[in-house]
Amino acid sequence: MSKTHSLLILPGDGIGPEIMAQARRIIDWLADNRGLEFDISEDLVGGCAYDAHGVPLADETLAKAREVDAVLLGAVGGPKWTGVDYDRRPEAGLLKIRKELELFANLRPAMCFEPLVDASSLKPELVSGLDIMIVRELVGGIYFGEPRGIETLPSGERRGVNTQVYTTSEIHRIAHVAFDLAGKRRGKVTSAEKCNVMESGLLWREEVEVVSKDYPNVELEHMLADNCGMQLVRAPKQFDVIVTDNLFGDLLSDVAAMLTGSLGMLPSASLGVKGGGAMYEPVHGSAPDIAGQGIANPIATILSLAMALRYTFELGEEADLVENAVNAVLEGGMRTADIMQPGKAKVSTSVMGDAILREMEK
Ligand code: ATP
Ligand code: MG
Repeated sequence: MSKTHSLLILPGDGIGPEIMAQARRIIDWLADNRGLEFDISEDLVGGCAYDAHGVPLADETLAKAREVDAVLLGAVGGPKWTGVDYDRRPEAGLLKIRKELELFANLRPAMCFEPLVDASSLKPELVSGLDIMIVRELVGGIYFGEPRGIETLPSGERRGVNTQVYTTSEIHRIAHVAFDLAGKRRGKVTSAEKCNVMESGLLWREEVEVVSKDYPNVELEHMLADNCGMQLVRAPKQFDVIVTDNLFGDLLSDVAAMLTGSLGMLPSASLGVKGGGAMYEPVHGSAPDIAGQGIANPIATILSLAMALRYTFELGEEADLVENAVNAVLEGGMRTADIMQPGKAKVSTSVMGDAILREMEK
């Protein structure tokens, strides 16, 4: 009897349902052709959940997200819900899943698919073969630290306050994720902080050093975060895994994203403690400007599924199969509008899905 892999699919808003339909076909193909058993449920999140239930994430949906092995999310939000109260906005639904499942590790690969090296903002030789994994701490640091707020001083002047706080255990658990990954990759972790000007940065450096003692086969390098940003655009291939805090990770992962060309290509994973929750989603948003036209690029969502296969279901072979199929389709010259290059065939969302499936069948 093979193990049943449970997956909650949340297509969301905008292009979410269109791109998710293509990922769904791949899951069904894997079930039919690789003898895998999936227990799949589908539900609403974001604006569509707000329209149906008055909240962006119903309690029953959250309960389901807790039960399953992994959540696969499309995207949420759109102009339709801009006037909605802060805690009922579509994005609040996502933040709630992250927080309730304590998804503290955000994994964002920056990979350059060989046929797309020309789409990068850097010279081809700088990004050809690029494969970086950024591990960003997602539930702590300055976005959540107390005290926070805007206050008016007796003088009448106003003051905005945020506080950066990290504890030993928060640093240790994110560092373990980074070292575990590096051990399965090229064996190098770069830890980025500002220990020269921040106490939390100093603690970060010391505690990452402590965790590194458990991983004699992984090389650890410390780098100031500003330098790390510069090195990412100067010589990105020096990096394997970068581990960093919430704020610097936000910035550095956007920089790394641009190295690879298109937003429509980039997957991500948010992981909790081992055996706990996990959510996989494309890096891009709901793209309301192109929603409903059938032209969105489904690859970021399909690669997010591949990450779920690799990291949650431990189906590395199937993950390779999906990723290799994507590469082969790009190699063959097929492009959605966002990664369009002169002389290549421009195709719809579903034709891209067809091609990837056909490639997997080979
Ligand atoms: P959010 O606030 O939800 O992150 P955003 O403002 O960052 O949204 P996106 O929704 O990510 O914006 O879209 C940014 C641009 O990239 C838009 O022009 C959109 O059409 C395009 N885009 C995003 N995702 C895709 C995709 N999968 N395929 C094609 N184009 C995309
Ligand atoms: Mg965005």
